[in-house]
Amino acid sequence: MPDNHSKSAPKKPETRAPGRVKAVTSPANPIVKDIRALAQKRHREETGLFLAEGLKLVIDALDAGWEIETLVISKAEAGGELLGKVAARTVALGADVLEGNNKVLQAITRKDNPQNAVGIFRQKTVPIERIAFGSGDVVVALDRVRDPGNLGTILRTADAAGAKGVVLIGDTVDPFSLEAVRATMGSVFSMPLARISEADFLAWRKGFRGLLAGTHMSGAVDYREPAYGDKPTMLLMGNEQAGLGDALAGTCDVLVRIPQAGRADSLNLAIATGVMLFEARRKALKL
Ligand code: SAM
Repeated sequence: MPDNHSKSAPKKPETRAPGRVKAVTSPANPIVKDIRALAQKRHREETGLFLAEGLKLVIDALDAGWEIETLVISKAEAGGELLGKVAARTVALGADVLEGNNKVLQAITRKDNPQNAVGIFRQKTVPIERIAFGSGDVVVALDRVRDPGNLGTILRTADAAGAKGVVLIGDTVDPFSLEAVRATMGSVFSMPLARISEADFLAWRKGFRGLLAGTHMSGAVDYREPAYGDKPTMLLMGNEQAGLGDALAGTCDVLVRIPQAGRADSLNLAIATGVMLFEARRKALKL
């Protein structure tokens, strides 16, 4: 599992020299090939970089202080006021701006109608101990989440529900894949994210004095019962196919179930997480 908080890139000087603006016209350009390769997990792990598509996401990332390595913009739209400002900001931060034609942007985003800006950013996660949450606060922990769309949606929903962070336990999908980042709609840049093995999580849990509420299809308690607002609360959600693993379920203070009607076996993971998050928020705000 990549450990971006400890395996950080070589230390950079506090202030970088301004970046440069370069024109790129061919998808075969080696810089373009390297950026394009960030669609592959292996390449993201090796470089510690990832792609954020679209001007909104790039601005969200810069505003939240994420480190930009390169910005690719559409040459045809480079004269636009906002795009120009973001490009100037990128250069001032010491990163290069590549002005590419449509073919270059299509190659990088693998889309026929690419956005006019793509940022290449350095990945960032925090150790679980650094996620600060007190009484009334909520953190979501996900057991082996597999689907990038689910993970992105959960990050977005956790952000909207005022959660303090998201913890990924065990072998999970890459939160920095294009699909996961897209689904977060920018929340990947504002939600503290930790990655941890199951064994390390179980060890961390021994010192956790808050409420660890697991969600389980055979949970004995209605999800509206626990007093989520009285302590720091961690909501533990299970894998899409297998549900919550036995060791994790066994360490929970309570296992809750969302009552269902109809014939569906279970709720989609992201939907169940949303229901849990907003119930915990309702309790914490005493609504
Ligand atoms: N076949 C799996 C099982 O039996 O656990 C279904 C997993 S479900 C698609 C993914 C996760 O969403 C579950 O592990 C749980 O965390 C949550 N979930 C879905 N529906 C739920 C419900 N009705 N009550 C509590 N949690 C639920």
